[in-house]
Order: sequence, then C-alpha cells, then structure tokens
Amino acid sequence: MLIDNYYSIRERVEAACTRAGREASEVKIVAVSKTKPLSMIEELADAGVADFGENYVQEMAEKASSTDRNVNWHFIGHLQTNKVKQVVGTAAWIHSVDSLHLALAISREAEKRGVDSVNVLIEINIGGEETKSGIGPDEAEELVRAAAALPHLCVRGLMAIVPPAAVPEDSRKYFRALEELRVRIQAKNIENAPMDQLSMGMTGDFEVAAEEGATMIRVGTAIFGARDYGIKS
Ligand SMILES: *Cc1c(COP(=O)(O)O)cnc(C)c1O
Repeated sequence: MLIDNYYSIRERVEAACTRAGREASEVKIVAVSKTKPLSMIEELADAGVADFGENYVQEMAEKASSTDRNVNWHFIGHLQTNKVKQVVGTAAWIHSVDSLHLALAISREAEKRGVDSVNVLIEINIGGEETKSGIGPDEAEELVRAAAALPHLCVRGLMAIVPPAAVPEDSRKYFRALEELRVRIQAKNIENAPMDQLSMGMTGDFEVAAEEGATMIRVGTAIFGARDYGIKS
C-alpha cells in the first residue's frame, strides 16, 4: 500500500528529528505526485495525506479540477509568468519564485481572483549550477524584500534543489547553508516575510535535510515509485 511508504518516510523523519533535537511535527512531508495518476493521490488523501507537490502547471490544474478530495497543492516546478493564472487559486504554496517579475505576476493574479495572500518561497540556486533555476544566495535578501512589499503574497521562506549527490551526506553542507541564509534573512524582520519555512530534501537526502532544519521535504520516488516520463503526454 502506498500509505505504508508514506508511514515509513514519516518514521525516518521522526528518527532524523530525534537525532537533531527537533520535533517531527515541524517537518511537513510533501508527496511529489508528478507524472503519477490521480488515483494514487486519492488513495493517499483518503488515508490522511494532505500535501501534494506537482511540477507541471497543466498536470496540477487537471488533477486539482478532477478530484473532490480536499488537498493542499504545492507547486514546486519552474513557473513561467504566463502560466501564473493556472496556479494561483489552486496552489496553497508556490515553492519556486525566483524573480520579482514572477512575484509581481502572482500578486496581480491573486488580486484579480480575490485571493488575499499566496504563500511563496524564494528558490535558491545553492550549488551555483548553471542549469538550475533559482537565484544566488547573495541576491536572496533583495528579492525577499521586494516580493514582501507586494500586497497579495507572503514570503514564507526558501526552497532549493541541491546538486545531485553520490551519498546523502554530500547534501549536508548545502542544507546547512540554506538554513543559515533563512535565519539570517529572518533576523532582518522584514514585514510580510516571516521566513519560517525551508523546503529542501528529496528521496535521496530528506533525512539529512530534516536534521538540518527543513520544514518541508519533497518526496516523490520513495512514496510513488520510479517515474516513467515515457508515458507522460
Ligand atoms: C521531482 C521533484 C522532487 C521529488 O524527487 P524524488 O527524488 O522523486 O523524491 C522534489 N522536488 C522537486 C522540485 C522535484 O522536481
């Protein structure tokens, strides 16, 4: 059963939190359901799982409009400004804001739809990889300030996809740097930027992420099994 996979991740998160002196209740597991059928999402939702992550705008929109289950959608993929319309109003969280242009589009769309405030995270390219989206750590505070000045979103924290690691331990330095960056910006007490969330860690390294301060881990493969991009239309 899928829910058993979820429970075993929950247990591993609990053990990681115990090692780090954290409360497991501080870590939300976002079940990353991209490419997986709605039936799997509904199976988990019926067993009590509340948070699901999707990468593709169209896929999330279709799933959200096809289910009557009350779930929290997290948009975790790269978001183009012209697709914001399909995300605002559906996603409870947008993890991948990496420009003021995008933040502005989100705030404007929220206003249009009468959405008071969208929870967003600023995506950081912590490994400095050329192929990755996200902004450099040095630009983070400036973007947090500018985005927080917009009326219809709330800057809740940071998100990152760390460079591919041979072993989970290799991710630790990036996770630690992200938590330091989050704390440093939080200490500036920027209005409308509580900076209380840190989205990091995936199937390969979520325990290390939980040890280093993640408040959201994004786990796909370990819950749903391997993805087959071949059958995605
Ligand atoms: C696909 C994806 C995940 C989940 O990855 P797994 O290794 O399958 O757990 C997490 N975050 C983002 C941004 C993703 O695109």
